[in-house]
Amino acid sequence: MVSRVIPVDRFDLVIFGGTGDLARRKILPGLYRRFVAGQIPEGSRIIGAARTDMPTADFRAHVEEAIVEFVASAKRSSELVGTFLDTIEYVAIDAKGDAGWEELAKLIRADVVQAFYFSVGPSLFGHLAEKLHRYSIASDDARIVVEKPFGRDLKTAQELNATLAAHFSESQIYRIDHYLGKETVQNLMAVRFANILFEPLWNARHVDHVQITVAETVGVGGRGTYYDRSGAMRDMVQNHLMQLLCLIAMEAPYRFDPDAVRDEKLKVIRALLPVAPDDIVRGQYRGQARKNGPDDASFLEDVEDPSSKTESFVALKVEIANWRWKGTPFYLRTGKRLRGRESEIAIVFKEVPHSIFGEEEGWRENVLSIRLQPNEGMTLSVMIKEPGPGGMRLTEVPLDMSFAEALGEEGADIPDAYERLIMDVIRGNQTLFMRGDEVEAAWAWTDPIIADWDARGDKPKTYDSGSSGPEDALMLLHREGRRWREIHE
Ligand code: NAD
Repeated sequence: MVSRVIPVDRFDLVIFGGTGDLARRKILPGLYRRFVAGQIPEGSRIIGAARTDMPTADFRAHVEEAIVEFVASAKRSSELVGTFLDTIEYVAIDAKGDAGWEELAKLIRADVVQAFYFSVGPSLFGHLAEKLHRYSIASDDARIVVEKPFGRDLKTAQELNATLAAHFSESQIYRIDHYLGKETVQNLMAVRFANILFEPLWNARHVDHVQITVAETVGVGGRGTYYDRSGAMRDMVQNHLMQLLCLIAMEAPYRFDPDAVRDEKLKVIRALLPVAPDDIVRGQYRGQARKNGPDDASFLEDVEDPSSKTESFVALKVEIANWRWKGTPFYLRTGKRLRGRESEIAIVFKEVPHSIFGEEEGWRENVLSIRLQPNEGMTLSVMIKEPGPGGMRLTEVPLDMSFAEALGEEGADIPDAYERLIMDVIRGNQTLFMRGDEVEAAWAWTDPIIADWDARGDKPKTYDSGSSGPEDALMLLHREGRRWREIHE
């Protein structure tokens, strides 16, 4: 199967923060891969804009290094890299001052698609938005892409939305959540809404519960100061896990259109019940640096604050008060320094109403597992008869759809989430981007949870690095006769 490359119009893409970590690891290598795929039209330009004063040649060398570091060698040839680098320009600008803006204004063309990627800290978003207008750089159709975090609570998110709205309309604002750019996440919508098989079962009558796990093996070392002000609830649940939950729980949009999809997601967020304190477990990893060396530091050592009450792990039970989901809990779990790096959504179906095979030991419930990483794909576990003459014994087999295998060589080359999302920006398709009201609704649900911890001075439980989180998190499901899916090493 050959993957289609959908053409986009010629563009000028400005990456504010072009010298930063995100640009180096994701944005620039991603653009190069799209170039190799033939998706960057001739005459398009990528313009790095950041504080460091340097000539374009130096920035091109920086981009080349990023490509060498982050793009597979099979995709690199000096000729291809050279042609790609020809599309790159650089302007030194100061987001807060006037340096560089007139130069940028001269460079940007009015007759191509204009996109401005704000890959800088959120405190600069307002400055950039204002300067793009003051210097008459952005056309009425220009797009701006903003990175997470989008606020740290409802109030700051509202302020940020108002700041951007002063200069850009909602249809121009692309709030990126790279989880939504993953192939599997989009496939989830295809599986749900392009097949008759699943939708009749997709409700509280047939689904016992849903588990969403985003497990990381890394700690917060390196970004400890930022993380200590954030925590797993703000950094992961309010945005990424919430978006995944919405895609599982939402009704069918009337068509696959950005606002139709986002309207349905918003309804899910608004239907979330407040979470009771008993239904949440927070954790902090405890490393054993003394025994295992500095790489095995504890969370408190990583954030350099022995009294920190920030969580590096959170597990919670979420309930959706609507006709489809009343009675089906959604269990969410995410954390650092866990046993494995794994992201999975598991739809766990109910038992058959009556087992004609009696108390069959091998019986397991059907589970639709949607893996975001590693090995993006979906597996549906079904019960069959154990092969052989041993009588009617049941066994579980996976109906496996690993995208890389199912789609052959092209599947193995699934574009990275950032690549796909940047191309969606150029195309002007907002389906996979969060709308302002969605972000605010998600904070409105998250704020009371965090406020309650703060008011009670809640201290997270500790868990061993390399484990599946605190014991209490296991109990969250055990007490209801359920168990978490295994996190694989
Ligand atoms: P970084 O600190 O590595 O880079 C910051 C960039 O901003 C640099 O290019 C710097 O020159 C530029 N900059 C700073 N002040 C400026 C000013 N006054 N005028 C002009 N340019 C200025 O940051 P990063 O890690 O690349 O993150 C960028 C944004 O992306 C942040 O909002 C971050 O939260 C978000 N983000 C980053 C990651 C990641 O993996 N790094 C992941 C998700 C979201």
